[in-house]
Amino acid sequence: MPSCIFMVKKITAKEPKGYHKEVPGTQNNLIMYNNIKEHLNSLLTEIKEAGLYKGERIIVSPQGAEIELNTGQKVLNFCANNYLGLSNNHHLIEAAKEALADHGYGMSSVRFICGTTDLHKKLELKIAEFFGTEDTILYAACFDANGGLFEPLLTDQDAIISDSLNHASIIDGVRLCKAQRYRYENADMEDLERQLQLAQGQRFRLIATDGVFSMDGNVAPLDKIVSLAERYKAMVMVDESHSAGVVGKTGRGVTELYDLRGGVEIITGTLGKAFGGAIGGFTTGKKEIIEFLRQRSRPYLFSNSIPPLVAAAGIKMVEMMTDTNELQDKLHNNSEYFIGKMTALGFDIKPTRSAICAVMLYDAKLSQDFAARLLAEGIYVIGFYYPVVPKGEARIRVQLSAAHETEHLDKAISAFSKVGKELGVLPAF
Ligand SMILES: *Cc1c(COP(=O)(O)O)cnc(C)c1O
Repeated sequence: MPSCIFMVKKITAKEPKGYHKEVPGTQNNLIMYNNIKEHLNSLLTEIKEAGLYKGERIIVSPQGAEIELNTGQKVLNFCANNYLGLSNNHHLIEAAKEALADHGYGMSSVRFICGTTDLHKKLELKIAEFFGTEDTILYAACFDANGGLFEPLLTDQDAIISDSLNHASIIDGVRLCKAQRYRYENADMEDLERQLQLAQGQRFRLIATDGVFSMDGNVAPLDKIVSLAERYKAMVMVDESHSAGVVGKTGRGVTELYDLRGGVEIITGTLGKAFGGAIGGFTTGKKEIIEFLRQRSRPYLFSNSIPPLVAAAGIKMVEMMTDTNELQDKLHNNSEYFIGKMTALGFDIKPTRSAICAVMLYDAKLSQDFAARLLAEGIYVIGFYYPVVPKGEARIRVQLSAAHETEHLDKAISAFSKVGKELGVLPAF
């Protein structure tokens, strides 16, 4: 196989002399890689041909209502999870800088060895105060919080009853757990009741739901979920990633909306959306559950937590949200204003109780053309279609933020109106 030997030489040409010794099996490894390489390339081509290839738009400014792209174009951003506009908030930046100065940059350790600072402990208590819960455990991300939640708590004697539209991290967390799995149709309480009845043979039952479902912006009917849980003796876990900071009069999430503060056993959430948007996740709830997670939850035991500077900014964030309701009020007013005007123009908007506004277009290609035309008008939004949303339910998802001023909203609304008429979504006159 002279060609393979030639390739070994070519690949290693830049390595220091003597670094790469030919070892038995090298040629086979290259042949092996060539096989999977072809396979990956053909899958990539398929993804591209189906129009499902995900690119990245490169931003060269801080996150905010207006962002600058590496093309030099400045656009209004309506697709960030920056619900409270805190991603570039100067109070958070100052708190992070102070922590950088007095706590340094990294911890080089997981929490239980030597990776816990006073800032981590303080943020955990602040988050518990915020949600009216007993204790909190931080993770590097909510993906980890959900990934490490179910497996320690439940065994094959138990049951998880999960909403069909739950976030990928809940689905993966459930997969890692040996509990029996039951699935109910999105927010369908008759189906949830059926599944709870089927799960009555198991020892413990846990209902798992997103607080806000990110594609429609609908809120989980938590009042009904909790009363079914009481009736069928189940615990409730709600992921407040898209609802914390957003839903409820003071942004305490769906448990506030339904007047159920402290009324569910487990809440998970992220620091990566409304809460400053950097990185970090948490599980907050009953103290024995949190204490047990500190003993057994694998992403907590085997992976670093957030750096001190992120914890400090998180503390500042909770303090700001406790001092004033300004940002939540502004977000709620912005959402109401935008949705009201868009509905009046004749757009078909999915019923929503969050800062997510799904503008229904139904046709996949139309959703892509519409988003591209909006970008040319300086409005950055994303068009979603199958398999991210059901077939025939393509849409543009608009995310409102307290960072938006009325002039930003008006500019977006008039761009939607213009493109809507051009593309025949709205009547031309
Ligand atoms: C975004 C999101 C997550 C993941 O949060 P990260 O902190 O970015 O890992 C988990 N659950 C839900 C419902 C989300 O929307």
